[in-house]
Amino acid sequence: MFLRVALPTPLRRLFDYLPPLDESAESISKLKAGCRIAVAFGPRPMVGILIEVAHISEIAKDKLRPALNILDREPIIPVASLDLFKWAADYYHHSLGDVLQNALPAWLRQVDRQDIDSQAGLQITATGRDTDPSSLKSAKKQAALLSLLQHSDQPLTETDIIQHGFARNIINGLLEKQLIQSVRLPLAYSHSVVFGEPLKLNQEQQLALDTISKGAHCTLLAGITGSGKTEVYLQAIESSIKQGKQALVLVPEIGLTPQTLQRFEARFGPCVKLIHSACSDGERLATWLAAKDGAASIIIGTRSAIFTPLAKPGIIIVDEEHDASFKQQDGFRYSARDLAVVRAAQESIPVVLGSATPSLESLANVKAGRYQIAKLNQRAGNANPPVMRTIDLRHQKLNNGFSPESLFALRRCLDKGQQALVFINRRGYAPVLMCHDCGWYAQCQHCEARMTTHLRPAHLHCHHCDNQQRLPNSCPSCRSRQMVLIGQGTERSEEALQAEFPHVDVLRIDRDTTSRKTAMSEMLDQIQQGKPCIMVGTQMLAKGHHFPKLGLVLILDADGGLFSADFRGPEKMAQLLIQVAGRAGREDLAGEVLIQSHQPDHPQLQLLLQRGYFHFASELLQLRQVQQLPPATAMAMVRVSANKQDSPEAFLEEVILKADQLNQTGIKLMGPLPAPMPKRAGKFRAQLHIQANNKSILKNFLNVFVGLLETTKGKDQLHWSLDVDPIDMF
Ligand code: ADP
Ligand code: ZN
Ligand code: ZN
Repeated sequence: MFLRVALPTPLRRLFDYLPPLDESAESISKLKAGCRIAVAFGPRPMVGILIEVAHISEIAKDKLRPALNILDREPIIPVASLDLFKWAADYYHHSLGDVLQNALPAWLRQVDRQDIDSQAGLQITATGRDTDPSSLKSAKKQAALLSLLQHSDQPLTETDIIQHGFARNIINGLLEKQLIQSVRLPLAYSHSVVFGEPLKLNQEQQLALDTISKGAHCTLLAGITGSGKTEVYLQAIESSIKQGKQALVLVPEIGLTPQTLQRFEARFGPCVKLIHSACSDGERLATWLAAKDGAASIIIGTRSAIFTPLAKPGIIIVDEEHDASFKQQDGFRYSARDLAVVRAAQESIPVVLGSATPSLESLANVKAGRYQIAKLNQRAGNANPPVMRTIDLRHQKLNNGFSPESLFALRRCLDKGQQALVFINRRGYAPVLMCHDCGWYAQCQHCEARMTTHLRPAHLHCHHCDNQQRLPNSCPSCRSRQMVLIGQGTERSEEALQAEFPHVDVLRIDRDTTSRKTAMSEMLDQIQQGKPCIMVGTQMLAKGHHFPKLGLVLILDADGGLFSADFRGPEKMAQLLIQVAGRAGREDLAGEVLIQSHQPDHPQLQLLLQRGYFHFASELLQLRQVQQLPPATAMAMVRVSANKQDSPEAFLEEVILKADQLNQTGIKLMGPLPAPMPKRAGKFRAQLHIQANNKSILKNFLNVFVGLLETTKGKDQLHWSLDVDPIDMF
């Protein structure tokens, strides 16, 4: 007998091993797929996953090595999960071992891991129960934690508590006062669900909920921002849990805000489990096991949470399904949204894709009858949708990018005691630093890109490779001191607004100001207090947030999206505009959205503003049909990079030549093409686009084509990658 295992290597094949020497034939024949096996791969020990116990091997028995150790007697990976992983490996033409590497908690992939069987938890003490949290006046966070534990009749895990934003020192403070105590809890620990009062659904919401629970496979929940999609999710989840099943909720990376978590916990109590990139290995393992054993009822996570096994799957929800962060952009390039649909079909459960601005892919699936659609066209409660209009920048005298009309509108908004949001999709101070006398400009030496000037702290920063340099005082080329900063970044806007409105708080929210762990939640707290202020920020502000006092949204520049080289440019621009605009006019404030543009009459922009996203999207879909671009067709892309300029193109030319012998019916190869940024981080880059009439033609072609890529030798540290259904052409 042979153990056929998947190993974490990029090689797209399985590896055969002999059973460990001390294992009996009987115990081997009992092993099932999904058990972990320790093996030596070259000189290194590795954890592989058993895919089958085979009776024939293509490799001679004396060439095979015995496996080192059998780590599980019962499969650690459930069959359903293994089916999903195999499907993904097959569809994305990626190594199954590497898929598993992405999908499993790191803890399970370590050869010499210690077994852990319990985790730390905290519980209220008798004194703690009798202590009034408000008596801890000087320690507000401690009071909040005390109150949380008072209201929980079971202990909470430390992981859960830390995910609620309580730092270690807060916990220690209460432990020292003996108001709470430490306990050990099982690894797969979770709380029982409490059911809070659901809201009374309006007619549209009720219809949507009925549509979802009719049980048909996939529902696109297309609801404008503020229409109450979340309430529909909550009630769909509730009915699933009441049948004893589990719910998996995927949210975009920056959508996993404390606000999101609070809304779920307000309804279901502290049983909600989180999975995201900042989780430690131990936390991830605990959540994974709690989900696999069925102890956890609700799992909310970002992209990779789609791989979480569920003992009793009930429903999958993908919120903001259009969001680009659901697609992994390196290594194993999967789309968590698409896998959610596949997984739901495999497990025969409903899946809901929700968005105010659905992707063209999902709209096309509705059109083709593969998904059903439920629409929410009205804002829930009393809120009114915002009024959107353009501001013509032509002939205007701009103050640091702001037109007089925009500044006037900001002043009016603040005077009314409301808050304003200024959206600008570029961080730093200015995107170009140029010499007025000789035209020199700051360029990254590793990329074909300009370096962005940051002033706090002062430096030049390449946003493509992270290269950082001192800010020159004079021109490196002609020594002139006439250096000019061209264009707008968030820092510059913040400075200009603070000068214009000296008595108002200006909060800059971008990757630079939120790198400190609690910075974002501190700023959000300040905004929630409701005093007039101006938020200046990047797309971090676009999603998920709920700002009750927001009266005005100003979009500094809409022109970039209209003239993007990427065929998805207009779609992305429209989604961003509508999402940012959706932050305004929540609750009972009528919001206003102003869009600065040099092309205020641009037909696409006007179509979007006058007829709304769905009309806009449906025209774009027709255009894609004419242009034979996705989703009307299927697409894959090969990206190649190397140390020498010509190597990527030479490699692709050779591959294309070989591909002449393949059946190319319904396939169009385009390339070698220069990458949109031909040099990045010191590497030269080229691309090949593969367009196919449909997905199955693409899949059949790639099955053979990947073999050609694998057998073609590249020079100069050449690296290639295959991206099926790319969403970013970079
Ligand atoms: P979306 O997720 O579609 O952007 P939300 O779920 O955030 O919308 O809902 C917007 C606001 O409307 C929230 O404050 C929510 O509590 C409220 N809301 C949702 N559904 C109802 C309802 N049926 N009745 C009253 N208020 C509702
Ligand atoms: Zn100069
Ligand atoms: Zn660079």
